[in-house]
Amino acid sequence: MPELRNCQRCGRPYPYAGSEYCRDCLREIDRQYDLVREYLRNEPDVGIEELSARTGVDAALILRFLREGRLVHAKSGLTCERCGAAIPSGRFCAACAEELRAALSGAKDATRFYGAPRYLDDRRRDGGP
Ligand SMILES: [Zn+2]
Ligand SMILES: [Zn+2]
Repeated sequence: MPELRNCQRCGRPYPYAGSEYCRDCLREIDRQYDLVREYLRNEPDVGIEELSARTGVDAALILRFLREGRLVHAKSGLTCERCGAAIPSGRFCAACAEELRAALSGAKDATRFYGAPRYLDDRRRDGGP
């Protein structure tokens, strides 16, 4: 029996299979992702607010795509979690990502790099409707 969870987007219970969203919402999120990606291809200079207004996709979801590295956008408004530099996608700037890679491949303790776990905060911040 799969575990039942409540979808983080629509709140309906669904059989958990590794995603925090139900199947319907995953499909909808993919559709919105395609919309945003298409729009960015034609209008690479658009800001997040306008991008959200034009595509009808929630700004929080767009930021999530960017954080996850699914989208890359020069005006993402994201900053490196370690040094605060502006970044187009993901969580770290190139320099910090490189240091992180080195730290992970070396003997150093990766949790020192990350500091306290942040995923709980992240979840609260862009946590669904
Ligand atoms: Zn759902
Ligand atoms: Zn950095």
